This record gives sequence, C-alpha cells and structure tokens, in this order.
Amino acid sequence: MKIDNFNFAGKKAIVRVDFNVPLDENGHVTDDTRIRGALPTLKKVLADGGALIIMSHMGKPKGKVNPKFSLSQIVAPVSEKLGVEVKFAPDCAKAAEAAAALKAGEVLLLENLRFYPEEEGKPVGIEKTDPAYDEAKKAMKSSQKEFAKTLASYADVYVNDAFGTAHRKHASTAVIADYFDADHKMPGFLMQKEIQAVDNVLGNIKHPFTAIMGGSKVSTKIGIIENLMDKVDNLILCGGMTYTFAKAMGGEVGLSICEEDKLQLALDIMAKAKAKGVNLVLGTDCVAADSFSNDANTQVVPVNAIPEGWEGLDAGPETRKLFAAAIEGAKTILWNGPAGVFEFDNFTGGSRAIADAIAKATANGAFSLIGGGDSVACINKFGMADQVSYISTGGGALLEAIEGKVLPGIAAVAE
Ligand code: AMP
Repeated sequence: MKIDNFNFAGKKAIVRVDFNVPLDENGHVTDDTRIRGALPTLKKVLADGGALIIMSHMGKPKGKVNPKFSLSQIVAPVSEKLGVEVKFAPDCAKAAEAAAALKAGEVLLLENLRFYPEEEGKPVGIEKTDPAYDEAKKAMKSSQKEFAKTLASYADVYVNDAFGTAHRKHASTAVIADYFDADHKMPGFLMQKEIQAVDNVLGNIKHPFTAIMGGSKVSTKIGIIENLMDKVDNLILCGGMTYTFAKAMGGEVGLSICEEDKLQLALDIMAKAKAKGVNLVLGTDCVAADSFSNDANTQVVPVNAIPEGWEGLDAGPETRKLFAAAIEGAKTILWNGPAGVFEFDNFTGGSRAIADAIAKATANGAFSLIGGGDSVACINKFGMADQVSYISTGGGALLEAIEGKVLPGIAAVAE
C-alpha cells in the first residue's frame, strides 16, 4: 500500500520511527533532525482523522530497562512538534489498554523497544560459542514473534518510517509486518524519500556518475566500492584509505592510517577500475601532521613520500583540484566519508573542497546524495545542507542499500 493513497480516518496506526536522537546530560535533545524527518508521516495520520501510536528504539540498552535511554525524555519535544499532547506508555509490551483508549487525533508514544531483548531477537547472556546457543536463539526467535504480535495488536495499520534501522530484521521493523495484510502496511513518507534517493543513484542513473568514498578504512567500504564499480564513471577514494593505496604502490606513508593486510585488495581495486574503464581518482598530495591533533605542525607532501613520524590527515591542494574536476561535471553524485580528519578544524580543507564541488554540480542540475554518518556531519559543519539534493538519515542502512542488498525493513512493507 502507498501512504499517499491511504486514508487513516477512524484507524489506529502504529508507526515505527527512528527517534534515536542525541541527548545532552540533562536529557535534552541536541539534534532533532530525526524527529523532524518523521513529521510528514505522523501528521498525515492525524490530519486524516486517525489515532497514532509511535514506537522507536533509543541507544543500545541491550534488552534491559535503562532510564538513560527512556523515550519519556522526548515526550515534550515530540508534543511540541506535532502540536498535540503526546501520551506515554512506560512499557511498550503492556500498552494494550492505553492503545485501546486512544481516540482519533490522539498520540501515544511507546517506551524504548530495545528495553526488551525480543526487539532485536538476539539471545542475551549466552555466547555464540556456547553449545546451548542455537536452542536459545530458536527460543528467542519465537518470543520475538510474540512480541511483534503484541505490538501489532495495538493497531489496524502498520507504517515503517525508520530507514535508519531498515537493514535490521527486528520485531518492530520487519517481523510485525507479518501481522498485517498488504492493504494495511506501508512505508512512510521518509522511507519513500530514502528509497527514491537510493534509486536515483542505483537505478535511474544520469551520467557522468561520480562516487566519493572516504572515511578511515578500505575494509569497511569494500562492499560498496565493488558494487559501485559497475555503475560509476569516476570513483574518488579519499580519507584514510589514501595511504593504504599509496603503500600498496610502494610509497612511504609514515604514521598515516594504513591497513597493512589490505594492500593486495587496494591493488585489486585499481586493476578492476582499469578493466571496467572507471576513472579512479586517488590523492596525490596530502596535508601531513606531526601529531594527531588540530594544533599539530603541518606540511604538504606527496602521499607516497610522507616523512617518518608524520601522518597524512587531509587531502592536499593538488588533490583537491583533482577531486573537484571529477565532481563538477557530474550528473549523479554519491558522497560517503570525509577526505580528512574533518573533526579538526585545520583538516577540513579536503572535505570542504568536495562539498563545494558537489554544491556547484547540484546547482548545475546534478542529483547529489550524501549519506552514511560522517559526511552528513561534515556537510552540516559547513552549513551546506541546503546545497545538496538529498541527505540520507541512514548510516548502515544506506550503505547496505547502496551495496545492492535487500533491506528487511523495506521488503516487509513493499507493495
Ligand atoms: P568512516 O566511519 O569509515 O566513514 O570514517 C570516518 C572517520 O575517518 C572520520 O572520523 C575521520 O576523522 C576519519 N579520517 C578521515 N581521513 C583520515 C585520515 N587521513 N587519517 C585518519 N582518520 C581519517
């Protein structure tokens, strides 16, 4: 079912959102992006004349009640944003009465789903190596179904709007969908937008397509790099990965982050890019530092001739030009991972050059998708969020989607 075509009048909708928002030590929300992201779906239910049950996880309480991760802390900001006084169910698995009493236009927020181990469905207090593990897992899967069934019993309709957890097969993200027929389960508006954004860079690609992969390690990005190799025209590999490639080609990388066991993998990636006609863009120079700190002394050196005791922490000026050239003419752009240690103000230059080039290309009609944690933080740090086409709310979920994997949370509510 498509949410645009569904009328929630007289119905109770249970909506899985991602309200895993950062809180300060006083329990105040420090970044409400995720709450704002879910508003179109939540408001549609209310505007249609439905009743709303909201469920989410927060943090990693590992199946135990922990006040630090209580969603009671966000009742006020959610009430304020919805313009409705939100009621709170302090136990998500014992909310049947509160749900039954809910009237059209009313909102009930359930306590953190992950206070129950059934949400994630992993057995607790038993190691994978324990001979009894398989039995415990089987038992947990069965209680996970019961838990999902309980949540499902609160409502007539299930909406999944939590893209950030769509790569997990949890009770509230996937299993619950088994208890609704196809006409009564659907992705929310945010989920739809995320699916569309991924499709723009995987399905409906306009060339040239430039992907920029940065961050610290090759090993965590290899799945995506391999999947993108069949699709992109330009592949920029930057950040800490630079030095694994430089070393693999025989360079001296000093103290730079380098995965010694991935040197062959780096050479394989280079060979594959060549065979597929992909323009692989690697850094040529870097800003090297004499310590891992913002105040370190710096010098610009070739990435393959970093002096002993120094480490590359940002892309150099020549490299920034190479990156910009590969980005500015693109019609599709994907950016995941910074080009340097952007958390230090003195090492943001490479990432900023990328962000500037993306903004320019976007102004010229390119579709640009930014996602996967740190590049989003980067764009926000530069105050450039409104100069790109789409910023994904998903970290791991976005990366898995781009790897071409089917996400359980999306499959569960697919039409
Ligand atoms: P990831 O989570 O793999 O996307 O990595 C993001 C992290 O990579 C950020 O915290 C950056 O500070 C870090 N990073 C980027 N470039 C470098 C570099 N040259 N040396 C060390 N860390 C880096």
